[in-house]
Amino acid sequence: MTYSIALVPGDGIGPEVIKPATEVLDAVGDASGHVFNYVELEAGGCAIDSTGEPLPKETLEAAKQCDALLLGAVGGPQWETLPGHLRPERALLGLRAGLGVFANLRPAKLPPQLRSACPLKDDVLISSDSEGKPGFDLLIVRELTGGLYFGERGRSADGKAAFDTERYAWDEIERVLRAGYEAAMGRRKKLCIVDKANVLESSRLWREVAAVASKEYPDVETSFLYVDNAAMQLIRAPGQFDVIATSNLFGDILSDEASALAGSIGMLPSASIGSPRDSLAKDFRPMGMYEPIHGSAPDIAGKNIANPLGAILSAAMMLRYSFGLETEARAIEDAVSAALDAGLRTLDIAGKGRATARETIAGTREMGEAVITLLENKI
Ligand code: NAD
Repeated sequence: MTYSIALVPGDGIGPEVIKPATEVLDAVGDASGHVFNYVELEAGGCAIDSTGEPLPKETLEAAKQCDALLLGAVGGPQWETLPGHLRPERALLGLRAGLGVFANLRPAKLPPQLRSACPLKDDVLISSDSEGKPGFDLLIVRELTGGLYFGERGRSADGKAAFDTERYAWDEIERVLRAGYEAAMGRRKKLCIVDKANVLESSRLWREVAAVASKEYPDVETSFLYVDNAAMQLIRAPGQFDVIATSNLFGDILSDEASALAGSIGMLPSASIGSPRDSLAKDFRPMGMYEPIHGSAPDIAGKNIANPLGAILSAAMMLRYSFGLETEARAIEDAVSAALDAGLRTLDIAGKGRATARETIAGTREMGEAVITLLENKI
């Protein structure tokens, strides 16, 4: 198959981490016969410099024609004094809204090789799925375009009272739950829906929708947790979770909590996905925007020391969720794991391995090359 990918390298370390990510994709293409065509687009600070706007119309229009979008990072100190609507970060909001991506997928995984990057004790990290090895591997699916952040809000006439509204429609809940179920089908087939149904009417609607949606996914074990308990369980025993699906507000908080358990910001990928491109398609193949969770890191830009693994793992998520290429996605993740096994470390993850691990410091380019070498025989 041929896939078109909108490529938005952006600013700072963005282009540095996107380059190895596309080289890894090309190696996957060579091994699998799939073709990845890139449409390179400007957004963020570099677009402000060349066009005066953080998200030129042409960028959004071209991105909409592609099968998925892979982004590095945007922003930097040289654009910080611009008014809000002209800041580079506006490009992210514009792309998310313009592409209609409504579910944010944030995996949080602790590679065993980076065990000491996690502040939790060994006995807390042991899960029933990890064969007794300390670790966790979970995915939070957060609703991205509704709920409290988009509901009606206001102030009383005297300004001494304020309100925000949590409002969800059936179809908004259904589509994000479906994204959660589809994700769970490709993983350990467990979906935990996090809400506050003992208090909130909107949460009770989430449970009603879940009762219907779950029937379509009989292979997935559905469970429910109140958000206060979920926040505690994430710290007490993160290994119990596979996929968590939740509202915008709860997902915002829980995904930060989970990523803090997983070590360096340079390691973590993310996906924001939208509707299937072809609503008649039997399989769910959403349009998606894929990006490492880190920013443009101006302090280390241009030094070949940025960790490219978050970007490379974002490319793996793109293969899995937008293209349905599970084998190829897993091959990239296994190659990343093999690079860590081999002791390769960018500076941000150096010294976070077990005391016995022999570590070799790798630059951005060298880490990307190692992942490509270790991809061999995995596809
Ligand atoms: P940041 O994520 O860019 O950097 C935070 C710290 O983490 C820095 O010390 C940096 O060196 C380090 N770091 C980040 N990514 C790394 C990587 N791949 N490898 C090694 N170390 C890494 O956050 P910040 O400093 O708060 O923001 C810098 C700029 O990025 C700002 O302009 C901000 O608005 C923008 N930003 C963009 C995005 C995005 O594009 N999605 C997200 C967050 C911040």
